[in-house]
Amino acid sequence: MEKRFCDNCLSKTDHKAIELEDVIYTYKRKRKYICSECGHESYRRGLRPTAESVY
Ligand SMILES: [Zn+2]
Repeated sequence: MEKRFCDNCLSKTDHKAIELEDVIYTYKRKRKYICSECGHESYRRGLRPTAESVY
């Protein structure tokens, strides 16, 4: 469990982090975070957080 900000709860909640092997972007690895409060899922790429807005 990790404390992360949930866009749905609008507060910091426990999130479950799952490492995903991305079959499309094979050179990248992304993480899926699932809010334990509401089940909201969000993706974070491991390498460059700043690149998120580009996609
Ligand atoms: Zn939430």
